[in-house]
Amino acid sequence: MADKRDYYEVLGVSKTASDDELKKAYRQLAKKYHPDTNPGDTTAEAKFKEASEAYAVLSDADKRRQYDQFGHNAFEGGGGGAGGFDFSGMDMGDIFGDIFGDLFGGGRSRRGSNGPMQGANIRTSVRITFEEAVFGTEKELELTLKDECNSCHGSGAKHGTAADTCQKCGGKGQVVYTQQSLFGMVRNVQTCPDCKGTGKIIKDKCPDCYGTGYISSKKKIKVTIPAGIDNGQSVRIRGKGEPGINGGERGDLLVEVAVSRHPIFQRQDYDIFSTVPISYAQAALGGDIKISTVDGEVLYNVKTGTQTDTKVRLREKGVPTLRNKQVRGDHYVTLVVQVPTSLTSEQRDLLMKFDEAMTGKKEISTENEGEKEKGKKKFWK
Ligand SMILES: [Zn+2]
Ligand SMILES: [Zn+2]
Repeated sequence: MADKRDYYEVLGVSKTASDDELKKAYRQLAKKYHPDTNPGDTTAEAKFKEASEAYAVLSDADKRRQYDQFGHNAFEGGGGGAGGFDFSGMDMGDIFGDIFGDLFGGGRSRRGSNGPMQGANIRTSVRITFEEAVFGTEKELELTLKDECNSCHGSGAKHGTAADTCQKCGGKGQVVYTQQSLFGMVRNVQTCPDCKGTGKIIKDKCPDCYGTGYISSKKKIKVTIPAGIDNGQSVRIRGKGEPGINGGERGDLLVEVAVSRHPIFQRQDYDIFSTVPISYAQAALGGDIKISTVDGEVLYNVKTGTQTDTKVRLREKGVPTLRNKQVRGDHYVTLVVQVPTSLTSEQRDLLMKFDEAMTGKKEISTENEGEKEKGKKKFWK
């Protein structure tokens, strides 16, 4: 296989090119070499692929970083030895949609002629507490939902009348324009401007729904949020989205969950992390301390001579997994030994005695506190 050309070179941009510059460069090449405008020209096709590959990589911030670091090696090796670029994991529609959208007509509606079509999904969000995410909860949402109009049963036409088939598109909802352009004949499919894609023209509109076929009303919807859900995940409620078209099913309602931060617990996947302060005496002597968990306080026996930053694992005190509530993560606690920041004179004396006992050395001056030149006390002879 011939050496691959540098992606920046392929697009004719500098290594520091902005996203806009990349896009501009790619648009120009894509226009020039697109297979639709160069039928049967294999050189053009190869150039088009080369440019598309370069753009696919460089327009993706992560991939661009990898490429900048490792060059073509970043993407080779895993793909079966062909050394080619693997497009399979990428949504080309996403990457090139905005470019080809306006290049080759755009508005490519996926609407079939007049068959049943599922309604669109509706997205909304709900905020819950940390504990609610851990143990699951139920929330009631108030949403404005569309329902088929009872008077016209969704046709939008006044009772006793019917909608006419659109003359312009023959009921297809789409019109096709063929245009002569700079790069050959371009087929341009657009949503019909007369019927807005419905394929029907309503002369006498239903007075209840103003011809839309739908009535909007506020509805209360219960959402069951499963134990273990994490910030940013969504709950899907089937059949609570937009109504279907021509007898199609309703879309779904997708509720994105935002989880509030907890003052002491942090979460990573199904594990919980927290920090618990213990006193110097507790650390040295050991003993029982109370640790807050999502299940409430648990008693934990600190071992004699515990050092600061000791990590403790409380098994299965973490977050239940979404698949099985019985299976839970762990709770990791960091014990942090606290150093007192202010002492009474009694505490201070005791600490000094303690220090003496520890080191076996006597302190020289304890009476001169406040005198600056003697501010530094000596603890040794
Ligand atoms: Zn109606
Ligand atoms: Zn039409």
